[in-house]
Amino acid sequence: MARRKKIYEGKAKTLFEGPEPGTIVQYFKDDATAFNAEKRDVIEGKGVLNNMLSEYFMTGLNNIGVPNHFIRRLNMREQLVRACEIIPLEVIVRNFAAGSLSKRLGIDEGTPLPRPIIEYCYKDDKLGDPLVAEEHIAAFGWASQQDMDDIVSLALRVNDFLSGVMYGVGIKLIDFKIEVGRVYDGDFQRLIVADEISPDSCRLWDIATGQKLDKDVFRRDLGSLTDAYSEVAKRLGVMPKGAVPMKPTLIN
Ligand code: UDP
Repeated sequence: MARRKKIYEGKAKTLFEGPEPGTIVQYFKDDATAFNAEKRDVIEGKGVLNNMLSEYFMTGLNNIGVPNHFIRRLNMREQLVRACEIIPLEVIVRNFAAGSLSKRLGIDEGTPLPRPIIEYCYKDDKLGDPLVAEEHIAAFGWASQQDMDDIVSLALRVNDFLSGVMYGVGIKLIDFKIEVGRVYDGDFQRLIVADEISPDSCRLWDIATGQKLDKDVFRRDLGSLTDAYSEVAKRLGVMPKGAVPMKPTLIN
């Protein structure tokens, strides 16, 4: 196979130049990291599950008119996406208190929030992705006021879609993170959902039992991460019952 040009290697994904200009191949790795990469492991099959699940959510979003970067899945570990300029923010949407919000404000995990809360973190691993306010975003030029309005609108549409899809399979969407990218269509620019949507970037609790089905299983040593992600995939019909995630393949 011809050697492809690697554009970027992140903690859970590697990006390669795509076959046509303006496209990128996203390769989902099995690496799991938490606490700003202080905790790390390789979880066999995680990349395959996240590739399939992200395809499922992004395709659904496309079908209801929420623009995103997904073009098509190429194989078990790779998908073709539209290249975009990533806005250096993690956009977090919360429906119930958990994680850093619970810690910061002393609210019990699982407490329903009176309305969805959107938070922004500045994407910088060296700084540990600090929480920032719209004031910082505008002042430092990471996004304009118009961009922020568009980001809120995208984030809330993703929230409604994901909450509904998850509710349909007995799962509560506690919170999630998205990333947003800028694309240019001629003279016009617009924002689209980018990166991935998977149990790595969501908190998902079983409605009946409260069992965690997301990356907290890894962060908090609660059992098998692949079992948790497989359960989500099975309920959504993304993975046939009993399917074993593929081992990593050598790609270069
Ligand atoms: N999140 C993420 N990547 C990050 C930080 C957070 O995907 O770098 C997700 C996380 O999985 C959770 C939500 O964003 O679904 C809110 O995370 P929180 O701020 O509570 O941070 P954490 O407790 O994970 O440190």
